[in-house]
Formats: sequence, structure tokens, C-alpha cells
Amino acid sequence: MHSSERLLEIAVPTPLRRSFHYLPPDELPADTKPGCRFRVPFGSKSLIGILIGYTEESNTPLEKLRRAEKLLDPKPILPEAILKLCLWSADYYHHPVGDVLASAIPVLLRKGKPGQQVSHRLIATKKGKETDQSSLQRAPLQKAALTLLVRQMNGYDRKQLKAAGISSATIQALIRKGLVRRQEMTAPVTAFSLNKVNSENIMLTSEQEVALNSIGDHGTWLIQGITGSGKTEIYLRAIEKILRKNFQALVLVPEIGLTPQTVQRFSNRFDVPVVLLHSGLTDQERLNAWRMASSGQAGIVIGTRSAVFTPLARPGMIVVDEEHDASLKQHDGFRYSARDLAVLRGQFEHIPVLLGSATPSLESLNNAWTGKYTSVQLRHRPVDIAKESYQIINLRNRETRDGFSKPLIRLIEQHLQSGSQVLIFLNRRGFAPVLHCPECHWTANCHRCDARMTFHLHGQRLLCHHCGNENPMPQYCEQCHAGNLLLLGIGTQKIEDRLKILFPGVRVLRIDRDSTRRKGSLNSMLAELASGGPLILVGTQMIAKGHHFSEVTLSVIVDIDSSFYSTDFKAMERMGQLILQVGGRSGRSGKAGHVAIQSHFPDQPVLKQLIREGYTQFAKNLLQERRDNNLPPFCHQALIRAESKSRTRALEFLEELSANERSSPRVDLLGPVPSTMEKREGFYRAQLLFSSTSRRILHAELDLRIKFAENSKLARKVRWSIDVDPVDLY
Ligand SMILES: [Zn+2]
Ligand SMILES: [Zn+2]
Repeated sequence: MHSSERLLEIAVPTPLRRSFHYLPPDELPADTKPGCRFRVPFGSKSLIGILIGYTEESNTPLEKLRRAEKLLDPKPILPEAILKLCLWSADYYHHPVGDVLASAIPVLLRKGKPGQQVSHRLIATKKGKETDQSSLQRAPLQKAALTLLVRQMNGYDRKQLKAAGISSATIQALIRKGLVRRQEMTAPVTAFSLNKVNSENIMLTSEQEVALNSIGDHGTWLIQGITGSGKTEIYLRAIEKILRKNFQALVLVPEIGLTPQTVQRFSNRFDVPVVLLHSGLTDQERLNAWRMASSGQAGIVIGTRSAVFTPLARPGMIVVDEEHDASLKQHDGFRYSARDLAVLRGQFEHIPVLLGSATPSLESLNNAWTGKYTSVQLRHRPVDIAKESYQIINLRNRETRDGFSKPLIRLIEQHLQSGSQVLIFLNRRGFAPVLHCPECHWTANCHRCDARMTFHLHGQRLLCHHCGNENPMPQYCEQCHAGNLLLLGIGTQKIEDRLKILFPGVRVLRIDRDSTRRKGSLNSMLAELASGGPLILVGTQMIAKGHHFSEVTLSVIVDIDSSFYSTDFKAMERMGQLILQVGGRSGRSGKAGHVAIQSHFPDQPVLKQLIREGYTQFAKNLLQERRDNNLPPFCHQALIRAESKSRTRALEFLEELSANERSSPRVDLLGPVPSTMEKREGFYRAQLLFSSTSRRILHAELDLRIKFAENSKLARKVRWSIDVDPVDLY
């Protein structure tokens, strides 16, 4: 061992917030770059880690350093910019670097599969090339095969040999004689080229022209366009420009299953390979798609949040559609925001990033209004469709049955009679969320969560939407054994049921997680909708995302009032986004859309303002409120969450943590407090909120608390995690 040997700094997939030093394996090529995988000993195990750098010194004494076993990649599987993005993320989100890097790559790469497409070739060995072929006189088949292989330096794969009439038995015999060997070779990569664009004969509006022309070589653009204003067309034209220069585009969407129409438009427009990356893929499919992207074969890569880490051989542009959507933030483990990382990746790769939404998040709007992003507005629809109109149906002093008031029923009737379709939105699946005993007021609760069990018609069962816990429907009250239990509250199944009674003979479709579980069922329902005719569509937020329902003229929001009770400071922002997103689904084929919202608070000022003055003014006022109350984006927040099986331990741990001296008076601590839903999946949960106007000070504080936590005995008895820029505070 040479003391001057460079040490490898390797991120190993462990829950520890640090990297590890190793001695290089024997014969490590001098130009081995960070981003390559190594097999390394770790404890008694052998793991696959990623080289993140070299170092001359280590805190570990030289004699205790272990030697990496093997280099797995001839060239980095993660290019410099992506590695930098991962290291930045580990730092910013205070998450173990090994876990960050592991979650950035497909499962099969974590298990050691090659990063590039490989093919197994059969090649004549040196001995095979030099052998006197007359020695094979008595094996004419082998002689013929060898002759063929000697002439082709790169050999052939099995398929080609089979086509040439050479059996595997013949090859096996040649391998045994040492005349032929099998070799793994990197398959040649054919970069895409754009030959054809099916422009659909769409004329850009002058507004769209201006938007498109404003997009430059690097920076971030916030494209705020009302639904139907042609945002996707802007994406497509911008991507066309970069495809023509043979650069690749990455498109991030909240959920691919919900946006088949968008995906279709991309692949119909350009004759370049389009690959999809989402959770529905098998490990092998995911690896194949990743290889197509990283080798430069794919022109367009469309994926959900984790696709933000997908390497592109020639990155040209990143698009984040529906940038306000909460699902772009990971909700457990490594809690990153794919939108924020996309913006950063754009900076690292010096490429433009387009964020698009009809209802941008307040933080993005703030970035646009303060000049950090370029603001692009699409206020008009290309085709002359009137803007949808909004109406609040006052529920105060008005009877409703299963969610329907009389004026609402009349309204639905009118739209159905004119041959249109009606969309009804309710963000609660199942039949009824409460099973109640009128005798003793017992309700059926989940014993693992602080939540009620929802009754589902299918199978007559009670289901917990938080942990999946399932029970048969009880006949008697668990407390007083009375038999007349009542189902209270409404879910999408009950709405569906009620509609069938109210409008006999009218087709009712329900789209939620329960009705779309079977593969293909969503697509067949969408096809039925597109075929037209009077019909009622009932659904959860699945229908508020991305779909275009060209026959719908009335959208109904059954219940908006829970937003007014919420303690989450983001509740109003979400309410506004939801109303406009649901509203934007209607009125698209020459008929104006109408939106009806039922509420007990028809005079709620924020709601009224949204409807009268539109989203931008609504957002401006909410931002002012946030500024006045020192809430994000005018301060930065982070949560430390803890959970334990014992009722008090999580809270005790956080109390211990918060008792420590603060690093700066400029950090505010709130809590620890039990989470709003304290018990979930059998764990008691608590949280401690940090906020500061200085991001740097906040992060220094978090570093300090992590040190405390890592030395705490209580920490070993709880599960704890950090959530930076939390989307969900409760
Ligand atoms: Zn539960
Ligand atoms: Zn009872």
C-alpha cells in the first residue's frame, strides 16, 4: 500500500448522513471519474456505492481503511451535473447521501446491472484466429462457424449466428476448444434525429408567439396560462427547436397515468423516440427507458418526479407541467421537490426550464414577480371559447340530500337536457366516511390511525384511507350493541348512487382510485366520455388533472367548505387551484362552461374574489397575507418529524431536541406538538417546526439539531426524519 495513494470517497446506501473512504481497487484506471459505481465491503456485507470524489486524507487511520472490491463502470453512470444535483440535494434536504444517490438511479443499477445496453457477442479468440482450420476437417459445421467469426472482428450475436444456420451446440463446442469466446459489448447507440413534425396545422395566437419567442437559452420561465390557452403547444414548439439541434427534452408531469392525452401529443408530434418513466414500470422497463435517455437515443423523456434525476446525453430543456401540483414533492423518505430540483438542474446544465400551470404555486409566482423567473402569460384561448362562468350555490338554510341541493339538481338537469355532459367533483372516495351509532354516538374508527373508517360498497367493507386497514361492515355497535347503525357523510360512491336515482337512464361514470384500479379501465372510461352524449362523470382529484373533457359544460364542486376550516396555511391556495382546475375541465367545444360551487359560506371574501377577479389577483392577496404573517415564501421552513409505537416517546425525543440552545435568535421554533392526525399506521407522531427568514441560518440550525439527534439515546427508540420546505405541515 502506498501512503500517497488517492482515496476514494464513496456514497454507500446506508441511513448514515456521510460518505466513506476506501482504498482504490487494484489496477484502477487513472482517469476513473466520480459518478462511477464501485462494489465495496461494508461491515460484513458487500454493497454497491457511487464514487463522489477523491481525497488525500481521511479521519480513518490508513491501516483501518478497506479496499474497494471492484469498479463497475467504464464511464460514469451519472454525469457531472446530475452528481452535483444529488450532492446538493443531500445537503439541502439533510438526507443521507448514499440514499439520495440510490434513489436517483433505477433499482437494477443499484443491483449492479450495466448502465448501457449490452449485447453478448461471440468472438474468435486469438487461438481461434491462429488455429489451422484443417484440424476441424472432421467437424465441418464448426469449421464453417469459425471461418465466419474470424472474418468479423466484433463477432456476431446469437441471433445473427442462428440466422446463418449455426446452432448453439456448434458454438458450445468451439467455446470448449477455446477457439471462440463470449463477450459483453456495449450495444452501439443510434442517436435520434428529427425528420418529421406533425404540426397539426395549429396556428399560434400572437400571445403564444410572444411566449415562445421569449424563451431563451437558459433561465427559468413561468408560463401561466388559463386552461385551454395552449400551454402544451408552447412546450411542443419550444421542444421542437431543441430537437432540431439534436438536444433532448425532459418533461416532468405529476402523474403519467392521468395524462395519457398529453403524452400522446408528444409522441404524435415528433418522430423521435419518446420514453416514459413512472411507477407503473417493471424494473427492467425502467432501466431500458433510463438507458435510452442517458445514451441519447430518446429525444423526449416524460416522467414523474424521480425522473428529474435521469441523465440526458445532450440535455436541451426541462419542462415541468402543472408545477403547482403537490405530488411533485416526495412525501416520505428523501423528501425533495422535483420542481425545485428541475430549476436547479437547469442552472447546472445551462438549459432553459419551463414551469407551466393555469394556477401556479404562490412561491413560483413570487419568483416570477420578483424577476427570478421570466413571467409568461397566456390569457386567451386560441379558439373562440367563452371563459367559464362561476356560480356559488348557497347551502345555508337549504336542505341537501346526499350532497345535492335543489338548485343544483335543476342545473344538472338543464345541462343534460341540452345534450351535454356534467362533471361532479368530490375529493372523497368510498361511499360514506362515517359509520355512526345513533344510540351512543360511537363511530367506527381505525384502531391504527386517528381516522374514521370509510364504508365501501364493493365487498361491504370498512376501509381506512390512511393505512389500508380493512374490516367487514359490523352489524352491531361495538359499544352498545345497538343494531341500527347509520352511514353518514358522502363519498363518490354515494354520489354515484344518488345520481342514478335522480337521473334514471343517464349514464354515470365514476373515476377514482377504486374504479380505475384495473388496468385499462381509466382509458375505456375516457373513451366513453369522448364519444359524447349526455352523461355524468363523478370523480376525485384524478379528474381535475390534465384531462380534457370536451363535452362537459357543467362542473360541480359539491363541497368546498372544509378549506375554510383548515389550519394549514396553504389551504386557501389549494382551494383556489382546485376550483380553477375543476372549472377549466368544462366548456371546450364551442359551448361556454359553467361551474357551480356549493357552500355554506357564499360570502367568503377569498372565494368571491377568486371568482370575480381571477387567480392572479387572488394569488397577489394571498401572497400579501403570507408576507404580513411571515409565512413561506417570505420565510423558510423545515419540519423534524418523529414517530414511535409508544404514545409519548416521539414527543419526548423532540422535546429533548428543542431544549438545546439555538444557533441563532433568527430561527423560530414551533412545538414540539403532536401531529394533527397523531396516530397513523399504529405510530404516534409529533413534529417540531423551524422557520427563519434566512435559509443559511435555518440550515445551520438543522445541522446542529441533527448532531444532537445523532447523539441522543432517545433517537434510537423513535423514527425521525427531516422535511425541508414541507408541503404538508400537518
Ligand atoms: Zn388506519
Ligand atoms: Zn352504540
